[in-house]
Amino acid sequence: MPDSRSQIAHASMPTVDLPRLGRSVSRFGLGGFHQLEITTDIVAEVVDAYLACGGTYVETARGYGQGASEEKIGRALEGRRDRVVLVSKSGAATADDIRRDLELSLKALRTDRLDIYFFHGATSDKLDRLTAPGGAVEGLTRAIDEGILGGMGLSSHVPATYGPAMERIDLAVILIWCNYLDNLNFPAIPERIIPDARRRGVVVTGMKPLADGLLWRSAEPAARYCLAAGADVVVCGTNSPPQVRQIAAAVAAGPLDEAGREELLRTAPELGRYVCRRCGRCPAEVMDTFRLEGELDRQMVDYLPHDPADYALRQRLSGWFARADAARADFAASGRTADALRAAAEGVACPYGIDIPRKLRLATAKLTGGEPQRV
Ligand code: SF4
Repeated sequence: MPDSRSQIAHASMPTVDLPRLGRSVSRFGLGGFHQLEITTDIVAEVVDAYLACGGTYVETARGYGQGASEEKIGRALEGRRDRVVLVSKSGAATADDIRRDLELSLKALRTDRLDIYFFHGATSDKLDRLTAPGGAVEGLTRAIDEGILGGMGLSSHVPATYGPAMERIDLAVILIWCNYLDNLNFPAIPERIIPDARRRGVVVTGMKPLADGLLWRSAEPAARYCLAAGADVVVCGTNSPPQVRQIAAAVAAGPLDEAGREELLRTAPELGRYVCRRCGRCPAEVMDTFRLEGELDRQMVDYLPHDPADYALRQRLSGWFARADAARADFAASGRTADALRAAAEGVACPYGIDIPRKLRLATAKLTGGEPQRV
């Protein structure tokens, strides 16, 4: 039986339409990656709690443990698969390979139909192969025609992929990261990609609302921030029933308003006195240098004191997007120098208390392959 807290969340769980599928889903989606970290029995408890809260969007991937996440979720959903929009992903590029993966996903998830199948971890370079004759788009189009698939989605760790992908593929949904730390590191996501998706009628599912776990102390405002930033569905990889209820309650409370967003950016401990809030007081080239630092290590490596668990988490997550080489190449191409940047920022007082000269020394050392630990 659901407990009283989940009944409250169920009563107020908001929904959003998926126009290409002719269905609506809860604005809280259950992510599948973290189901790898828990046993099948606990996955069942998580799924029970999620359904009791009114959740109706469950997402996983073939690549999460070579199908282990799909198998656990498939077992947990047995007999009630029709209560959710069920979504999985494949990184395959050809029609034959993605068909093989789709059939494996169907078997692991114990169903004869998936609602959406994602091109997983796509890149701009890969789009030509996906869309070529005999490519994965052709394979999924055939599956849609056969009635075993509802629509196509796409996820990537390279923001520049999304625009061309939405142009070239008839996508029902995109999955893109959306949280109050990385929206500062990758401002193209809230400023261009999400509005572009909205214009095209593509539903935005926002992943990593807790920045892969770094924002765990701020889970409720983080989930509400993700909604406010434009995500239609907040996909959160919760791995315990209390976490499910916490995110469900946050989503039910709705998006943060403008004052709430400003307050969060001002006070969030994970941003502290180091992460640039892009307020515009610094010259454009300085602000863009901090953006490149964010692309390189998510502005997580700040050479400030942290408790051991937080320090370890930062070290582990800072390279998650593997964008360091690209950030260094972009910085080199900009022709900027540390001295010129320091001179340009002279006299700027950061309203968030960031020591701009120190941050510039660290950022330029990172971006030029220098030694930030000597700064
Ligand atoms: S003043 Fe602070 S928040 Fe504003 S752009 Fe400069 S470093 Fe970023």
